[in-house]
Amino acid sequence: MTLDLASIDAVALDMDGVLWRSSLVLPGIADFFEFLRQRSIAFAFVTNNSTTSVAAYVERLRALDIPARPEQVVTSAVATADYMSRHYPASTPLYIIGDNGIRSALAGRGFREDPPNAQVVVVGLDTAATFDNFRLATLRIRAGADFIGTNGDRTFPTPEGLIPGNGALLALLETATDVAPVVIGKPERVMFDVALERLGTAPERTLMVGDRIETDIVGAQRAGWRAALVLTGVATAEQAAADGHADAVFESLATLGAAWKAVLR
Ligand SMILES: [Mg+2]
Repeated sequence: MTLDLASIDAVALDMDGVLWRSSLVLPGIADFFEFLRQRSIAFAFVTNNSTTSVAAYVERLRALDIPARPEQVVTSAVATADYMSRHYPASTPLYIIGDNGIRSALAGRGFREDPPNAQVVVVGLDTAATFDNFRLATLRIRAGADFIGTNGDRTFPTPEGLIPGNGALLALLETATDVAPVVIGKPERVMFDVALERLGTAPERTLMVGDRIETDIVGAQRAGWRAALVLTGVATAEQAAADGHADAVFESLATLGAAWKAVLR
């Protein structure tokens, strides 16, 4: 574990498992952001969730006294829309399987849906998706449309247990088409590049804080960032001890904040 907090200029935070765990808000989080503000340390929020809109996240963060602006929230839907804008003209006809988050992000960049003529199929988690949606997506991909997934999470946690995540939907289409999707969310590089551009810092002076080793921590390290694991979400202390990826492991965001304050005193 080699993390020099004094060298960090910016921090990107995963939300579920770091700031809250479903509806339970974790203690001490507002203090952490007050510390970042006092020290002029930039921050952004990075989540693989493609179903919730940026506006809804900003509202939730502000309700917790965390001063968030829309450009500081990078969902996999936002990163996908960013990627689409760089690689395709806005006139490109799309077929979208997904919820409000990805639909509003793509509409915000001027993209429109035209299912029968789609040249790109974009797939985010959609709990209302039907066989007919996958039938059409399969036909378009088999006809040559590009295939893009917002994120590859295989499962999605619910109070009853794990249910299929977007990675499971992508696997369905990959099986039916023999085409592998371009995936945008963590641990893939696009997501980290979009966040870094918004933070305006160098990768080695940017810290990712997350609760999931295989997405938050592995992705950050591949992108050349520093990575801190917190134990308030998915990863356990045993997993953290057995896995050497994180530069540092903290009980919670509050203990990370305390360690950082001590270093900058
Ligand atoms: Mg998380």
